Amino acid sequence: MSYDDNNIFAKILRGEIPCDKVYEDDYVLAFRDIAPQAPVHILVIPKGKYVSIADFGTKGSADEVKALYAAVAKIADEEGLTDGGFRVIANTGLNGGQEVPHFHVHILGGQKLGPMLVKAA
Ligand code: AMP
Repeated sequence: MSYDDNNIFAKILRGEIPCDKVYEDDYVLAFRDIAPQAPVHILVIPKGKYVSIADFGTKGSADEVKALYAAVAKIADEEGLTDGGFRVIANTGLNGGQEVPHFHVHILGGQKLGPMLVKAA
């Protein structure tokens, strides 16, 4: 799948749409999800144009990949999630329920999150 420059996270990165930013560095932007599924729900995205975790993991530079994971750790700590624990999700493709075709991970926390998956019907 080729990268769509009109996806909503591309617009956020270009400053065309506002976001509730929690973290930014040379490689990463993180902001609060507009429809939170937990008391803390933050999206962490690379600034580079990657569609999915597979795209990012194979084509991203070592610096970009490291920066994303380091950002997750830093944000989790700043949000007070490190001790109690939290969940990181990367929805991928159709079966994964990915809605926005710019790679992102969800950081979810602030309460017990229950089972990893709701059983599919
Ligand atoms: P996914 O299903 O993994 O692609 O998740 C996309 C996420 O982006 C959903 O949780 C949406 O609530 C969230 N989202 C969509 N538009 C925005 C926006 N403008 N600002 C923040 N989060 C958004």
